[in-house]
Amino acid sequence: MSDRTSFEVIVLGGGPAGTAAATLLARRSHEVVLVRPPSPPAGQLAESVPPSARRLLSELGVLDAVEAAGFYANTGNTVWWANANARGERFGGNEPGFHVDRVGLERVLVAAAEACGVRLLLGMSARSAVQSEHGWSVTCEGTDGEILELSAPWLIDATGRHGLLAREVREPDRSTTTLALVRRFRRPGGWGDDVLGQTLIESYEDGWVWSVPLSAEIRCTTAMVDQRHADLSGVHVGAMLDTELAKTRHLGVLLEHATPEDDGWACPASLYCASQYARPGLALAGDAGSFIDPLSSYGVKKALASGWLAGVTAHTSLIDAPMTQVAVDFFDAREREVYRSYRRRAAEFFEEAADAYEHAYWSTRAEAARTAGGEGDGLDTDRLEAPGASPVPERDVRTAFEQIRARGSLSAVRGSTVRTVERAAISHQRIVLEQHLATDRHPEGIRFVRSVDLRTMSELAPEHEQVPDLWSAYNGVEAPVPLPDFLTALATAFAAGMLEHRND
Ligand SMILES: Cc1cc2nc3c(=O)[nH]c(=O)nc-3n(C[C@H](O)[C@H](O)[C@H](O)COP(=O)(O)OP(=O)(O)OC[C@H]3O[C@@H](n4cnc5c(N)ncnc54)[C@H](O)[C@@H]3O)c2cc1C
Repeated sequence: MSDRTSFEVIVLGGGPAGTAAATLLARRSHEVVLVRPPSPPAGQLAESVPPSARRLLSELGVLDAVEAAGFYANTGNTVWWANANARGERFGGNEPGFHVDRVGLERVLVAAAEACGVRLLLGMSARSAVQSEHGWSVTCEGTDGEILELSAPWLIDATGRHGLLAREVREPDRSTTTLALVRRFRRPGGWGDDVLGQTLIESYEDGWVWSVPLSAEIRCTTAMVDQRHADLSGVHVGAMLDTELAKTRHLGVLLEHATPEDDGWACPASLYCASQYARPGLALAGDAGSFIDPLSSYGVKKALASGWLAGVTAHTSLIDAPMTQVAVDFFDAREREVYRSYRRRAAEFFEEAADAYEHAYWSTRAEAARTAGGEGDGLDTDRLEAPGASPVPERDVRTAFEQIRARGSLSAVRGSTVRTVERAAISHQRIVLEQHLATDRHPEGIRFVRSVDLRTMSELAPEHEQVPDLWSAYNGVEAPVPLPDFLTALATAFAAGMLEHRND
């Protein structure tokens, strides 16, 4: 680290969110410093990261580094939920996800950020941050008491649950509190071929447990209990976890032949969101802004996506100052929607469990999740991970596609409620204003689906009766797109009401 103390962006935190933000900004040639304490507090935690996180890692240019780190392959999940039979999800063999230890993942992501030009300030914690008309002044302290003052026009708080600045706007979910009890176990000879590489998840009367493999023999097992009923004084965390495992039907049995690798430890896992995720000069990224149930195994992916977008937001503001408020509002709106849609998704699981166990642990969680999630569709992770992806439900697109196929000709006319609206969108890692096509069904507007420009397509469609002719006309005026992508975009345009079939 050089003696430099003035930067364009200060990123606090070296987890997935902080490293994603810093990496994107450094790749966009900004002067970025990343501040990280000696080692993360929850060092022993193991996390399952699904294969779909690869796309984000690749967008950040760090997928090769993560693959090279040799994390244990994540091949799928087995879930025993609400007394139902096992439900399994197998990921494709060629591109598995990763089971990571939290320290190891941070190490890889921080090194990858440094390789992109991020200045690292390791072994230091941010103690305070003050914003003035000249930008931020951040006071950092090293383990030896050394004090350093940093300054920058932009600050990204990615300090996770600690939430250096995020704490000021944090809104905890007050009706539920959760404590995670964590311990690693070794089972010589492995845990059985049928669960090799899989995350195992099981609910029971008043809690749920899951187990993340870190190798063929070692698994990190966590129970999520109601913090209000968990008395930690004088009680061995390992013994508390044993009590919870005894309530399960499957995971407890698997652990019978395993021996603990540590004493076990506990960490808070209660939920929260923020009343505001960004303002000019500041973005709260990842867990600093909001925390969702690890039930979904989307925490790391959510943090990567949030950090990536925080980087895009700061980048936009730094190169195009008049767009600052638009960029900040875009980030804020997306972070809100991400939190709400994860809560909606969790509500479905909690309601199932509430029906099965009739216990307040589940009914309060179901109600809290339903309230926090509000109205809307369930979780569409593709949409959340790739901001700007189509908001039209997949089932509607499929129906529209079948209708197109069943007809002899397109007979397309412009939809009766189509209008043009100006919307913020991401283009080339920057937030821009674009003309979108909106309809009564999708007032939020859409412009691109699979890189197909819906405006051009909708203008050309009424002139062509056959899909191949329309496709070829489109490719003549826009960057050519493959037929499957074009068909998806065409079906989306019909599903959204941008196009209608004549005589419908
Ligand atoms: C029990 C449990 C199990 C989980 N399991 C999974 C799972 O299986 N899969 C999954 O995807 N997610 C899981 N999660 C969620 C996942 O851990 C988080 O969502 C993810 O790590 C968030 O990334 P982040 O970068 O926002 O924050 P963090 O990973 O928490 O990183 C925060 C960073 O900020 C640093 N920091 C803190 N204070 C300061 C300060 N004052 N100054 C500078 N730096 C600071 C920390 O040292 C750290 O580097 C789990 C969470 C819990 C609690």
